[in-house]
Amino acid sequence: MIARTLREFSRALEKREISSIELTRFYLDRIERYNPKLNAFITLDPERSLAQAKEADARIAAGRAEALTGVPLAQKDIFCARGWRTSCASRMLADFVSPYDSTVVERFNAEGVVLLGKTNMDEFAMGSSNENSYFGPVRNPWDTDRVPGGSSGGSAAAVAASLAPAATATDTGGSIRQPSALSGVTGIKPTYGIVSRYGMIAFASSLDQGGPIAWTAEDCALLLNAMSGFDERDSTSLDRPKEDYLRELSSEKGGKPLAGLKIGLPKEFFGEGCERGVMDRAMEALAVYRELGARTVEISLPNMELSIPAYYVIAPAEASSNLSRYDGVRYGYRAPEYGDIDDMYGKTRSQGFGAEVRRRILIGTYVLSHGYYDAYYLQAQRVRRLIANDFSAAFECCDIIAGPTTPTTAFRIGEKTADPVRMYLSDIYTIAVNLAGLPGLSHPCGFSEGLPVGFQLIGGYFSEARLLEAAHRFQQATDWHLCRPTAFDGV
Ligand code: GLN
Repeated sequence: MIARTLREFSRALEKREISSIELTRFYLDRIERYNPKLNAFITLDPERSLAQAKEADARIAAGRAEALTGVPLAQKDIFCARGWRTSCASRMLADFVSPYDSTVVERFNAEGVVLLGKTNMDEFAMGSSNENSYFGPVRNPWDTDRVPGGSSGGSAAAVAASLAPAATATDTGGSIRQPSALSGVTGIKPTYGIVSRYGMIAFASSLDQGGPIAWTAEDCALLLNAMSGFDERDSTSLDRPKEDYLRELSSEKGGKPLAGLKIGLPKEFFGEGCERGVMDRAMEALAVYRELGARTVEISLPNMELSIPAYYVIAPAEASSNLSRYDGVRYGYRAPEYGDIDDMYGKTRSQGFGAEVRRRILIGTYVLSHGYYDAYYLQAQRVRRLIANDFSAAFECCDIIAGPTTPTTAFRIGEKTADPVRMYLSDIYTIAVNLAGLPGLSHPCGFSEGLPVGFQLIGGYFSEARLLEAAHRFQQATDWHLCRPTAFDGV
């Protein structure tokens, strides 16, 4: 039962070979058994999940099923879901039960998807290791002394250990792709504006983008079909015709399936700073892509090295503004004892936010303050434009840009917590993509010393279908995406 993808489950449900209740119970049992080892889920409500499964079964029986009806899905705890605690892994929201659904949850509900539980994450999605959660770190199923990546570490670990067939995630600087790479699963961050941010708790609004994590690119396409599309409640949602992200995957191609595809290899991704084992696997992945018919060309993204400094001005600036709403007045945590209102704000915010969130608020407030705004914030915005221009120039000579997703495999819990800058470097290959608003995908491409390695594909705006197709062809030719950590096998 365990080695099955969402696509296969969806077919089995449709043919009534399995019921949604059975499938949901299967995953709830696995969660009960293995979650104590991983801490991937922070909120569960089995009764609610099973009630949804029952409804889905009735819908299937009535012949009104859609592609995902009856399939269980884990939701990153950044997506508001009505009646569910939605904490963003913060003490600030530890008792917050959402009175409404985010657009993403609403769309899954409309399709009859079962919400299996809410996954752990770095507090307010700030982090690369899932160690910044108020609910404790998530462990990597491939080696429980190591991090699963972050901030969507709970979602990635849950999918990797088969505690859920797939999950939602968000990516502000790499948080879908980096944990997918470190946990050995596939994830896609779409073009900015494709997935509605309504009800997705804001970190850095001009960078945040939701997307799916699953075993396969095909499953990601299936999920993106349901998640994406215009939403008038999000002012940055793009009003474009609805796409079928599966369309390129099923087309039969004679000869080599990726013939004509030109892959650009930025020399900045293949230089120093990348672990040997990761680089070797990336090279092998490229050899597979060449066998599938792709050609490779060397390109350059000259402003790449400025992406981390620019991001760590822009993202904290936006976060400091977004997080000002948590003041202890309207909702969320309030310090139990305080003097006047200023004291209440101060105590509430210093007790309610963890260290990394406070660090970001301080940086953000500083770079936006009078006298520093031009020197930091505006300068970072100019660098952001240069980075976007680098990508546009690169896409003049290639269709897709590729390289390793991360410079290292999963690191040990505690290894980088004392040195935030070292932690920030985990996203060196992913952050520029968010600054430019482009889509990026990570898929497994092998192992280094027993730990998964991820391969990243970056495309031009709205090229999700092309990225998913390339990854799908790769997955048809290899089986890295089907490898599962043995410690979590069996039920
Ligand atoms: N690791 C990056 C950060 O800490 C990106 C996080 C994300 O994409 N949400 O900001």
